[in-house]
Amino acid sequence: VVLAYLALITSFGTGSSARGASDIPRHDPGKVQDLVNSLRDRLTMSQEVTVAIVPTNTLLVSVESSKDRDDAFLLTFENGFLLGLDEDELIAVIAHELGHVWIFTHHPYLQTEQLANEIAMRVVSRESLRRVYEKVWERGGTKGDLARFLGN
Ligand SMILES: [Zn+2]
Repeated sequence: VVLAYLALITSFGTGSSARGASDIPRHDPGKVQDLVNSLRDRLTMSQEVTVAIVPTNTLLVSVESSKDRDDAFLLTFENGFLLGLDEDELIAVIAHELGHVWIFTHHPYLQTEQLANEIAMRVVSRESLRRVYEKVWERGGTKGDLARFLGN
């Protein structure tokens, strides 16, 4: 199954670090996975979503369907981006990405950022999503139109 995109923003490259990957502090993947599982339950989704934390993801965070299973997904975070998020923001990001999974499994042709955020806002606040966008834009040195992503 080829399907995957789903980033918060796709119009800029990854934040690079001068340090080697080995001395970058890492989030506890188990804790991130627990948050994913709990949000997945709150959104009443049955798909398995597995977390991966990687040194570089040009989308910062993305979700894609598993190569060999239609009902499983891989949620990949860039470590440096993950480290810059507080817990509320992390939960908002996960909810947004799960929103993409939800759309994929219900209305695959309606995949948009705004709809992903509508799904996310079933379980997180608009404010927490707004803060995530501010961080993403700050990281990319850009400024987007919040209304386009979050609605008015
Ligand atoms: Zn998105």
